[in-house]
Amino acid sequence: MMAEEREYEPKYSRFYLRGRPGEMDSELTWGKVSRYDRRADILATEWLTNTGTVRITFRVADEQPFEFSPGQWIGLEEEVPGAGLRRSSYCMFSPPRGDGTFELLIRVLENGPLSKHMAALPPGYTMRFRGPRGKSMLPKPTDTELILMGTGVGVAPLYSLCRHLLSDGDQRRIRLYWGLRLTDDICLLDELNELADGLDNFSYQISLSQAPPDWPHLRGRLTESVPPLLERLGGKRYYLSGNGAMIEEMELALCSLGVDRTFIFEERFFNMKPRVDRATMDAIMGRFVADDLSKADTRLRSQVWRFTAPEPEVAEYPE
Ligand SMILES: Cc1cc2nc3c(=O)[nH]c(=O)nc-3n(C[C@H](O)[C@H](O)[C@H](O)COP(=O)(O)OP(=O)(O)OC[C@H]3O[C@@H](n4cnc5c(N)ncnc54)[C@H](O)[C@@H]3O)c2cc1C
Repeated sequence: MMAEEREYEPKYSRFYLRGRPGEMDSELTWGKVSRYDRRADILATEWLTNTGTVRITFRVADEQPFEFSPGQWIGLEEEVPGAGLRRSSYCMFSPPRGDGTFELLIRVLENGPLSKHMAALPPGYTMRFRGPRGKSMLPKPTDTELILMGTGVGVAPLYSLCRHLLSDGDQRRIRLYWGLRLTDDICLLDELNELADGLDNFSYQISLSQAPPDWPHLRGRLTESVPPLLERLGGKRYYLSGNGAMIEEMELALCSLGVDRTFIFEERFFNMKPRVDRATMDAIMGRFVADDLSKADTRLRSQVWRFTAPEPEVAEYPE
């Protein structure tokens, strides 16, 4: 399902239209049923960075059960003064807890009405939501290793997944690569270190695209820093989350190198249909060191390109 469809679904359920064709007008002047029929109270809002990352904790305030799987999202609806009725989707940041509370990790955008508004709401405020919805990220038992790549708040569902799997005693190796711009964007180190210190099979690395000279860790966008670290591509499941440009490029590169699309899970938050140019893809492909899938069917690889990049000059890539 495309993310745009989620955000721009009609405001009211079609439930009342069933069986009454032609009788209802589009305004639905009676029997209005908002799809955002659930309620959650804000318990706390915590600014994690001065660049606009906020963690908001909620408690479900209606009588319905609240269960979700890592990777799923809720839709929030709110009347924003000056901007009207706004709706946006947010992935759960916390793992499933079973006590009706959950956390979201929100990027407060300068030009973002809902994210700005939400970050200023007081504890005790009740918000309307729908869901949880969307695909679960839970891997199959046969997936031997998980490679997680998230940019910015795209780390939210990946963190939820890690916490959930690791607290369940999952033994497979999990590597999280988190792409941020600046050192000021870094947060959640206590949470991530707690996981990494307690468990041998989990590790994480932060890659800064605008790193200061003395930054001792990964540098560049994830498409620059991660490919040289993947010694093998087979036997892994890949999770890509956040900026659609990173996801498109990484997915295209992985598929072109022989990774089956069904082993790639993606969750795009914005930049849903980015344009990928050949020079960028050439550079990304050139950084991969793994060649274990190099025997992959070249016909299949060229199909990947035709499907995503129809221009004739890239159709024959990567021959
Ligand atoms: C399935 C799904 C899950 C999502 N989960 C999260 C989440 O966990 N946390 C979160 O903060 N957002 C998440 N988003 C994005 C969120 O739904 C909103 O788009 C975002 O909060 C902006 O809403 P807004 O009303 O403030 O501004 P809008 O007017 O909707 O957006 C303003 C502009 O900012 C762009 N934008 C949206 N998000 C970002 C970003 N992170 N960085 C840079 N530009 C961006 C939009 O594309 C748009 O061009 C998710 C989106 C989808 C589709």
